[in-house]
Amino acid sequence: MKSYRKELWFDVPTRRAFINITSQIQTCLRESGITEGLALVNAMHITASVFINDDESGLHHDYEVFLERLAPHEPTTNYRHNLTGEDNGDAHIKRQLMGREVVVAITKGKLDFGPWEQIFYGEFDGGRRKRVLVKIIGE
Ligand code: ZN
Repeated sequence: MKSYRKELWFDVPTRRAFINITSQIQTCLRESGITEGLALVNAMHITASVFINDDESGLHHDYEVFLERLAPHEPTTNYRHNLTGEDNGDAHIKRQLMGREVVVAITKGKLDFGPWEQIFYGEFDGGRRKRVLVKIIGE
């Protein structure tokens, strides 16, 4: 069995963003030389997500509205977590809602997606460098 590991770095200037990272994962898959197996992609930080959905701007706007409704950034005093001196209590909850990782099947050297599926990095507390781990195993 072959094994491949890579860290992808992101430095998002805004507090929140959704970034399509599908082409970067496809590059990792090519580098790995693996044609049958599994790819794990996970955020290595507890205020960021990796998830799969459609690359459609209206949907991404809807996510933003939905997440702000469930866990608004302001007022920051609403979060007990922020008593630590941080202001990212909302970002931890948004990350939990959008998920930590995805696993994608690899078939015949390609990411074996369903229709319209794309992989996204979700940032909820930007302004600093963060990592995504890519681990691919197989033959
Ligand atoms: Zn925090």
